[in-house]
This record gives sequence, structure tokens and C-alpha cells, in this order.
Amino acid sequence: MDADKAAWEQRSVVRVVTPVEPRKLAKVPFAELADGRLQGVVSSGSDIERVYVSSIAAGTHAMSCSTNNNRPCGALHGYACKHVRMLAEEAVLQYGLDRVARYLRVEVPEGGDLMRSLNGSVERTPAAVVFSRFLRHLAYLEVPDSTEPLAELHWFPAMGAVR
Ligand SMILES: [Zn+2]
Repeated sequence: MDADKAAWEQRSVVRVVTPVEPRKLAKVPFAELADGRLQGVVSSGSDIERVYVSSIAAGTHAMSCSTNNNRPCGALHGYACKHVRMLAEEAVLQYGLDRVARYLRVEVPEGGDLMRSLNGSVERTPAAVVFSRFLRHLAYLEVPDSTEPLAELHWFPAMGAVR
């Protein structure tokens, strides 16, 4: 529904989600292996209202980093910025090094470091797709303050209107 989509897009202020796993969710609230990329959302170190959408492509290892408003990250030129590094670190905690390395198609030597084994160029990919996946992911953890039905929760009869 268009109205639902607009509502998602307006919810652009990200609140920190209560950690459910022993990983730095406050710093990297979202990391996934999807769409041929390791991609995720990384909090800005300096501005609590700002987040970066970072990714590393499988195969080419091209790196991308921009704010959720699609402003390119100033720290990403030629080598990974700290957001891409943090995303990689957290993905390794979440999925394990083997799985991340296999997905990205990178050889990491025994005892080696994922980021040191990558040598990708910088390629800007739009933040919007990753960011809307993040908002969708948040919806499962934290139901927004709204009386509108959530499409994903329709299978719960307790949501009402089942007579
Ligand atoms: Zn960055």
C-alpha cells in the first residue's frame, strides 16, 4: 500500500533497539547478507541522529557508504571508512567469519582479518533500499506507536477485527 510505504519512509529517525544478542547493536543496529552484498546500518560516532548505510559487494568487494539521506560518506575514498569496518566486524560476530567470507567470495587466510583480505573499489549504491529493509526489520522488534494495521502482523488474530 502506498500509504503504508509513505509512513515507513517518514519514520526516518532511528532509535536504538534493545540488544538481543551480544553484539554492538547500538553501533551497528542492522547487518545482513542480502542482495549480493554485506549491507547494514551503522550509527554515526558523533551525531546520534545520523546513521550510515554501508555495504560490501560479493565478488567485486566494491564498498559503499552514505548517510540514510544518501549523502556520500566523506571518509570513504579508496579504502574502507570506519563504518564499513564496523559493519564487517559486526557481521563476523553475527554470522561467523566463514559464512561472511563465503558470501563475499573472499579468501581469508587462517587467523586473518576479513577487511585486510578485501581490496574493493568505492562504488556508491543507493542507501534507500537498505534503509527501508532496516526499518522493516525494526518493525519486528518494536511495533511502532500506531493504530494502523501492520501488514506483517496480520496472521495474529489478537490484532483485532477478527469476528
Ligand atoms: Zn562511512
